[in-house]
Amino acid sequence: MPEMTTNTCVLLKEIESVFPFVEMPDENELVFHENGCFECDGLKNDLEDYRNKAITGKAIRLVHQELSSLSAKGWQWVLPHYLRFCLTPEAEYNRMETEFLIYSLRPSPEFEQETLLRLSLLDKEQINCLIHFLSWCENQQHWKDYCLEDIGRAQKFLSSIK
Ligand SMILES: [Zn+2]
Repeated sequence: MPEMTTNTCVLLKEIESVFPFVEMPDENELVFHENGCFECDGLKNDLEDYRNKAITGKAIRLVHQELSSLSAKGWQWVLPHYLRFCLTPEAEYNRMETEFLIYSLRPSPEFEQETLLRLSLLDKEQINCLIHFLSWCENQQHWKDYCLEDIGRAQKFLSSIK
């Protein structure tokens, strides 16, 4: 389907232009709870293995269930890698990485404030790009069938903070 390929190329170009890579923040700035907690400490230790190294699919898989333990700086660091990964064939193997990103962008009301904090260092273009990423998901048959409602909620949430 050439049209889908074009859409993916267009989205990738946008991601490359508005989400340049940034350096991994210092370990104490990487996680959400400043004074540490079990999850944050675990994630911090696991991610140290990737400092100054290539962020591979393995690293994305390590992070995907722990997105809520990353700080705003952590999100700013991981999203450029994460979004690019979601567009690769590798992301089609178990699809959990894309799924968890969608879920983490549609918080239930009690987690909205936390989520806003995590997204607080993204600029307007980056928030827009996340919305475009969700539109791209919406156009993928798998995601359309699987979690259209979640995608809609995430789009609505992100549009509210623009
Ligand atoms: Zn924590």
